[in-house]
Amino acid sequence: MIRDLTHRKYYIIFKITTFVMIALLNIATIKIWNYKMVGILTTLFLALNYIFGLQKVPIQSEQHRFKIKIIGNFLLVNILLFYIGGYQNASYAIFHFFIILTAAMMYSSLGGLVILGICFTIALKMVFTDTNILNSFIIHSYVYGGAFVIGYFCRMEGIRKKKLDHKIRELEGLYKISKMIDRFPGTEEILNNITKIVAETVNAEACLIMLYDEEKDLLAAKAGYGVPKEAFQQMIFRQGEGIERQVIENKGRVTCKEEECFHIYRNISQDLWEIKTATAIPLFLRNKIIGTLSVYDKKGGNYALEDIELLDMMGSRIGMILENDSLYKQLRNRAIQDGLTGLYNHKQFYERLKVEIQAAKEKGYKLYLLMIDIDRFKAFNDRYGHLVGDKVLVQIAKIIKNSIRDTDYAARYGGEEFAVILPNTDYETAAMVADRIRDNVKKAAPAIEQLQKEQVEITVSIGIACYPNCTNDITNLVDIADIRMYKGKEMGGDRVIA
Ligand code: GH3
Ligand code: MG
Ligand code: MG
Repeated sequence: MIRDLTHRKYYIIFKITTFVMIALLNIATIKIWNYKMVGILTTLFLALNYIFGLQKVPIQSEQHRFKIKIIGNFLLVNILLFYIGGYQNASYAIFHFFIILTAAMMYSSLGGLVILGICFTIALKMVFTDTNILNSFIIHSYVYGGAFVIGYFCRMEGIRKKKLDHKIRELEGLYKISKMIDRFPGTEEILNNITKIVAETVNAEACLIMLYDEEKDLLAAKAGYGVPKEAFQQMIFRQGEGIERQVIENKGRVTCKEEECFHIYRNISQDLWEIKTATAIPLFLRNKIIGTLSVYDKKGGNYALEDIELLDMMGSRIGMILENDSLYKQLRNRAIQDGLTGLYNHKQFYERLKVEIQAAKEKGYKLYLLMIDIDRFKAFNDRYGHLVGDKVLVQIAKIIKNSIRDTDYAARYGGEEFAVILPNTDYETAAMVADRIRDNVKKAAPAIEQLQKEQVEITVSIGIACYPNCTNDITNLVDIADIRMYKGKEMGGDRVIA
């Protein structure tokens, strides 16, 4: 609404000036006043004015529409002036036409202003060499006054449009982010989508989110747009690498336009070969830097202030998303994890086993279950105390986790019993994994000084059962593995029985 009012204001100013000018010219050129000619030209003026009318110009934006209308009116007035004798010859009209075009250019280029200056100097000369100084002066005043109005108008509109565009982009970006979070597709997808939204919002070629691991002092790319996943997954920056590390070290935004900055990115992906600018900002979680958001551009030059504001705003959104995600993960893990070892708990073990057995049934593959129990652990506890016993449990949990694939599941079944689900596995592999666990536990010196001194050896017994070979029933499967595990103990422990 405000936009329309402003347009109208400029347009009314322009119209009034035009009519005042025509009136003045009529007075100045009264001696060659030609009623017939004025009648025809006025009709023509009105008709063309109507054609250039608001409703008739098929233009995309309101701003465009007004600009064309003003320029159209200007041209008509100049033609009119020429015919009623206001101009001495046609070159005046052509000259003025260029001035008006130049004025229209002013909003987008400084060059326009320079050309306008040159035209103005030539015009001054014309005014002072003209025999009818008053006539010439009025015409030139009108043309230049009008040209400045158009120039100013266009310039103002340019600024307004830019501001409005920026606001729209900001809202669009935020809207897209909220809509996506509502669907909650999982953090990785959210972050990947955000990089896309950020790149589109600030018109960047590529965008990356990197997360900082303080313990290892590494900054690793977690999500990206404009760079293939395989490429950005290799991006792990140590101290001094990439502008992102500078952001971590300086705790503030870093922009780079120098060639030297870009080598590291060019080595990573072909998509980053042509970049000319890179800007990165820090991501915060409760005032602590947790990573960076960076954009890369093939165009040189600085990012506009508005784009930086947009980046900052999106950065704070990402911080919030990561915070929510870490809380969500903590809550979820608390519900499914064993507090001491971090493995799945008893309940989650059964839920997982159910799912995996169902999958094995559907796909027709075999599933192996390992039940693992520490040998003579009661005696160990009695001798060294429960706290030391707990440390051993944590250590064994780690060994189990490190001995299996990412697609296998390890759980703390009970006190000092562990269970491992090996989906889609054959007998040889299951037996090998079980023996690897047994061996690794035995080989691992307990990470406790007293136990190392006394050369205490900890061993486990492992029972193996197979779905569907041993049984189709989930409880039976666990029982069978358990019975086999106890058989191992009867045989002296430190054994795998299948
Ligand atoms: P076996 O060779 O037959 O397995 O003998 P065991 O003494 O290990 O007997 P069992 O498997 O029944 O183990 C039970 C003991 O495990 C009791 C307890 O001292 C110990 N235990 C169970 N849960 C925990 C725990 O959370 N922490 C510690 N430190 N010890 C535990
Ligand atoms: Mg035991
Ligand atoms: Mg036991």
